[in-house]
Amino acid sequence: MTHFEFTIPVLVIGGGACGAVAALAARTAGADVLLIEQDARPAGTTAMSQGLMCAAGTAQQAALGIEDSADILYADIIAKTQGQTDPVIARAIADHSGPTLDWLTRDIGYPFELDTGFRAAYGHSRQRMHGWPAHGGHDMVQLLHQKLADHGVDVLFGARLVDIISTRAGHIDGVVVERPDGVRETIGCGALVLASGGFAANHAMVSQHMPEAATAKHNGHEGNRGDGIWLGAGLGAAVADMGSYQGYAMLADPHGITVPPGVLVEGGFLVNNRGERFVNEIADIAGMVHPVMMQPGGTAWVVFDAAIEARTAYTLEVRQLQDTGAIRVAANMAALAAITGGDPLTLAATLAAADAAAASRAPDTEGRDWGDDHPPRWPLHLVKVCGGIYHTQGGLQIDGNARVLFGDGSGFANLFAGGGAARGVSGPSYWGYLPAMGLGSAITLGRIAGAAAAAAAAAGTP
Ligand SMILES: Cc1cc2nc3c(=O)[nH]c(=O)nc-3n(C[C@H](O)[C@H](O)[C@H](O)COP(=O)(O)OP(=O)(O)OC[C@H]3O[C@@H](n4cnc5c(N)ncnc54)[C@H](O)[C@@H]3O)c2cc1C
Repeated sequence: MTHFEFTIPVLVIGGGACGAVAALAARTAGADVLLIEQDARPAGTTAMSQGLMCAAGTAQQAALGIEDSADILYADIIAKTQGQTDPVIARAIADHSGPTLDWLTRDIGYPFELDTGFRAAYGHSRQRMHGWPAHGGHDMVQLLHQKLADHGVDVLFGARLVDIISTRAGHIDGVVVERPDGVRETIGCGALVLASGGFAANHAMVSQHMPEAATAKHNGHEGNRGDGIWLGAGLGAAVADMGSYQGYAMLADPHGITVPPGVLVEGGFLVNNRGERFVNEIADIAGMVHPVMMQPGGTAWVVFDAAIEARTAYTLEVRQLQDTGAIRVAANMAALAAITGGDPLTLAATLAAADAAAASRAPDTEGRDWGDDHPPRWPLHLVKVCGGIYHTQGGLQIDGNARVLFGDGSGFANLFAGGGAARGVSGPSYWGYLPAMGLGSAITLGRIAGAAAAAAAAAGTP
């Protein structure tokens, strides 16, 4: 029989958005909670994010007269994934995203607001991006950890989960954690939540499950090695959609800053080093990474103008691009040639063709419908970009209560998962990701998992 140094009702692994929210949910449901994080301070992929969460039917949408609902979000998820996602998880996220965001805002004090500058795009049929104005993912994770302290949740930093102890099939007894000096400790638990993120930093797993992304630059947190996924799978848990991930086409090169999607949605476009367009820039936010990686040198230029920059300058990322000098301005053909190193006549012709399509209200050569928008106007603003893999979306198979499942569909009694550690709702590959669904699923499943873990611990699972 395993000797545990101590036992806690609810144990949460991982201090990113999913783990912090799971711990808050379990604590507010009355459970004593310990959160374990391998790093010395809170960060995770969450800290690298823009801090935007998609959620449907929120109080803030209603206040602004935006009609949205769980059913509409569910339909958007199913459409974006071409029906190739788990309908149970999709239903759970669609049903709970709005109530979760409202709970975080109202009861926990996280200052979410609807991002009215982010239009409904890339598969979202409604405006449903919520963020903390002028703050990104770093501030999100800091504030969530402040809320953990306020609610009396203990957090153990510098402790890495290295094993899960299960002496009866389907039941978790506790875990083994390793400290930076190599010392190992055993901790017992009533219920365990795996919120240890995905596996985008695990090159072997990326090469195995998504070989087409193996050469992409990884722009997520280095701690996302898939520990929770492979430890859970080692206990017999099912995994699914392991080829699912969010790539991103606009990582400023070499600045490493994300050019926010709004730059394209508001009228920007992408050209290669020759000045040619190669993709419909408003069709697929994540899948667009592959057309960029296939261009000469694996890079492209985001082309926009002062008006587009002004409309997106409320985002932290555009301000960082400005501050670091990543945005280059070409007032004439000679300057354009000097910046891109390509033939400026080609880019000028590309611009003229897009202008003509926009004026005629017909889709352009890449199938882009400009609607009431128009392509950039001189002087041109440009950022050089490359593609990257940001985070994975496949993982442990869960049910609608975030309970981890075996391959036969039966569930563990007291093991839950969410965020990057669990199967998300982005389909099986790179083309099913809806903007802000990374945090949408991490936060929503975090709350579901935390509440369910508190209930399982209280019930004293057999
Ligand atoms: C540049 C960038 C921008 C993004 N912007 C957005 C956005 O605006 N909106 C959005 O919805 N999504 C965005 N995403 C995706 C989003 O950040 C992730 O989907 C989300 O943060 C996942 O949360 P998580 O809690 O599951 O994982 P994480 O935030 O990565 O947290 C997991 C934690 O677990 C810890 N951990 C891992 N293994 C162990 C172990 N063995 N023992 C102990 N601890 C462990 C890690 O150190 C980490 O702190 C972005 C991603 C990137 C890279």
